[in-house]
Amino acid sequence: MTFTTRFAPSPTGPLHLGHAYSAMLAHDMALQNNGAFLLRIEDIDRSRARPEWEQQIYDDLEWLGLSWPTPVMRQSDRVDTYQAALTSLWDRGLMFRCTCNRKDIAAAVSAPQEGAEIPTGPDGIIYPGTCRANSNVRGNVPFPEGAVLRLDMAQACFVVTTHSDHGQHHFTETGYGPDGQGGKVLVTDQDLIQTAGDIVLARKDMGTSYHLSVVLDDAAQGITHVIRGQDLFEATKIHVILHRLLGLPTPLYHHHTLIRDDQGKRLAKRDDARAISKYREDGYTPEDIRKMVGLPL
Ligand code: GLU
Repeated sequence: MTFTTRFAPSPTGPLHLGHAYSAMLAHDMALQNNGAFLLRIEDIDRSRARPEWEQQIYDDLEWLGLSWPTPVMRQSDRVDTYQAALTSLWDRGLMFRCTCNRKDIAAAVSAPQEGAEIPTGPDGIIYPGTCRANSNVRGNVPFPEGAVLRLDMAQACFVVTTHSDHGQHHFTETGYGPDGQGGKVLVTDQDLIQTAGDIVLARKDMGTSYHLSVVLDDAAQGITHVIRGQDLFEATKIHVILHRLLGLPTPLYHHHTLIRDDQGKRLAKRDDARAISKYREDGYTPEDIRKMVGLPL
C-alpha cells in the first residue's frame, strides 16, 4: 500500500510555526517513503472558517516548498457523506439526541460531590449521560433545533467488541505518544467509556463533528499514516472505535512533539507574531523555518 499522509488545517486563522512543522514533517515523510502528501481543508466550522485563511494556507505551504495533488478535499463539500454515516449509526441505535448545554453538563457533574475532581476527556467534561435514555427514539435522524447528536459509547463498545478482543482495541503509534514511546497502543472499552464518554458526533451548527469527519475523510483519502501533533493523541482513541463502528481501516499514527514558545507554551493561532506569513514578510526563508522547528535542510 502506498504511504499516504495528509495535512489537515482548519482555515480559521493564520498558520504558525507549529503548523509549518507538522506539514513539513508529513511532506518529508511522504518523500522518504515514496509516498503521497495530501492536503485537506477542515472547514466544517462555518462560523469560523474564512476563504482568505484558506487562500493563505495555500500561499504559506507553497512558500514553504510543499506540493500536493489538486483538487484539494474540503470538508464543506462532504456533508452528504457525514449525513450518511450519522444515519447508519442512528439506525443501529448507537446515538442519542442531547439537548444539554455546557451549563447543564457542568451542573450535572458537579452536583454529587462538591469539590471532587471533574473527569475530562479530549472534548472536555465527560458527558454525564443525562439525555442517554433518548436513544430509544428511532425514526429519521433528527437534526432538531437546539440539540446535538451523541454516540452512546457503552453501546458502541458493546457492538464492536468480539469474543476474541475482550473489549480491547489497538492502534500503532510510530511517533512519540504522550509518554515518549511508540508502539502498539492499547485502547480498552473502559478507557473509552470513562475517558471519552458519549462524544458529540454532530454539532447543531455543523451537522457533523471533528471526530466523525476526520475518520471518514482519512478513509476516503486512503490515508495510511496520520501525522499530527501530540495534542490529538487522546482523540485517536475515539477515532479507533469510530473506525471499527463504520468499517473503516485504522491507519498508523505518528503524533509529533509540539512547537512551543520561549515560555514553553503551545503555539496557538492567535499568536500572530509567529504566523508564517509574518516570517515571510520579514524576509525569512523556508530554510530558516526548517531550522527553527528542527527539521533537517
Ligand atoms: N484540523 C485539525 C487542526 O487544525 C487537525 C486534525 C488532524 O490532523 O486530525 O488542528
